Amino acid sequence: MSKLKVLIAGGGPVGVITGLYLARHGISVTLFDAAPSPPEDHRAATLQPSTLDLFEELEITQSLVEQGFKSRFFQWRDRVANEIVAEFDYGRLSEISNHPYVIQLEQQKTVYTALHAAEKFDNFKLHRPVEVVSVDQTADYAEIKVRHASGDLETHRGDYLIGCDGGRSIVRKNTGTSFEGFTWPERFNIVSTPVNLGEIHGFRMRNYCSHPDRWVSLMQVPGEDGKGLWRCVFPAKTEETDEEVMSDAWINARFSECLNAGPYPIVHRNMYNVHQRVAGCFRSGRIALAGDSAHVNNPIGGMGMNSGFQDGINLARKIIEIEKGADPDALLDRYDRQRRLTAIEYVQAQSIANKRLLEEKDAEVRRSRLNDLRVTVSDAAKHLEFVKRASLISMWEKSEEIV
Ligand SMILES: Cc1cc2nc3c(=O)[nH]c(=O)nc-3n(C[C@H](O)[C@H](O)[C@H](O)COP(=O)(O)OP(=O)(O)OC[C@H]3O[C@@H](n4cnc5c(N)ncnc54)[C@H](O)[C@@H]3O)c2cc1C
Repeated sequence: MSKLKVLIAGGGPVGVITGLYLARHGISVTLFDAAPSPPEDHRAATLQPSTLDLFEELEITQSLVEQGFKSRFFQWRDRVANEIVAEFDYGRLSEISNHPYVIQLEQQKTVYTALHAAEKFDNFKLHRPVEVVSVDQTADYAEIKVRHASGDLETHRGDYLIGCDGGRSIVRKNTGTSFEGFTWPERFNIVSTPVNLGEIHGFRMRNYCSHPDRWVSLMQVPGEDGKGLWRCVFPAKTEETDEEVMSDAWINARFSECLNAGPYPIVHRNMYNVHQRVAGCFRSGRIALAGDSAHVNNPIGGMGMNSGFQDGINLARKIIEIEKGADPDALLDRYDRQRRLTAIEYVQAQSIANKRLLEEKDAEVRRSRLNDLRVTVSDAAKHLEFVKRASLISMWEKSEEIV
């Protein structure tokens, strides 16, 4: 067993995967999470091919594939012209990925699957509900102060500390790291219905329907009974009140306007603000950031959690090298160079471009940009390049190339 001890703030998807990776390699890892159980609010729903490939090493891919819905295609529609613009095919990745499809699966199910795999390792410990209240470090160790539900405070020390504590990360704030970027003016309302929108409207499992005012993104997840739930993301205008946007009337007006159908039964609704931000540095001494604590983005394209997994696995591999005697400073600086640059060039750039294309107001620009999608999908080389980027395979390859 290793002598290195790693502390992880946050037991969300990125914290648990990073901890599992380290534990499998004999590193002693302790996670702290403030929530009593993995939150079931509607967040990530898509496991990209790059993630499924990386998870093979963790021996959880098979289980995730069995639990989720397999989807090869995603669709772009133009709501103004009422037509399908392009259907991108992840099947084109078959020569470079063992999983040329996405798996549609609710985020908490991925977390439970990873936790189940981690239970086998005595060197993996998760404490919850335990809130991280501060972090600190010296030249010799990193330290975390936590508060138990009883109010008792406790301090833990480790060789390295990873902040996987989400967008409001206390680890990032305590290390004085900036989080530059912006917040979109509109909020998103994510709504789900058991009605099979795919069957009725000819959708694939993932769809983006552009419109200057009322775009919509739709996708299917298994739901609790495995029969399928359709999640729809509708943007709310700044002048619309929270109460209005959360009402049945508002949601059904969106179904009517976007799908020319409904009213539909609504089983979940959740409104949230959407940010595009990247931490000024992913590493500060013995403390590193991974996942949403390091970068947040809008959900169009299904990239946030998946890029966080890449951070966690990249960092875990470096800690394993450090355990074997490699230079910690050189490796942790490389982690920052690799993951920060690609977070900006891939996830930020692509998710912003996706949102702008969905909502483009200038009719000429819209037509031209949607036409670019038609050209891309009909050209084999461009199509492959596009799906490599969308699936985050390009991001992983590029990040691995950075020295
Ligand atoms: C509506 C929506 C849809 C999305 N869809 C997609 C998608 O399809 N694909 C995709 O890849 N991404 C998607 N995302 C993004 C994705 O949900 C996040 O990128 C992902 O949750 C990040 O995981 P994480 O582990 O870094 O952070 P989180 O999931 O935020 O986990 C952080 C954990 O830290 C804990 N924590 C926080 N503060 C403390 C503290 N002080 N002490 C102890 N514990 C603490 C929390 O309890 C939590 O468990 C979506 C997000 C939203 C909001």
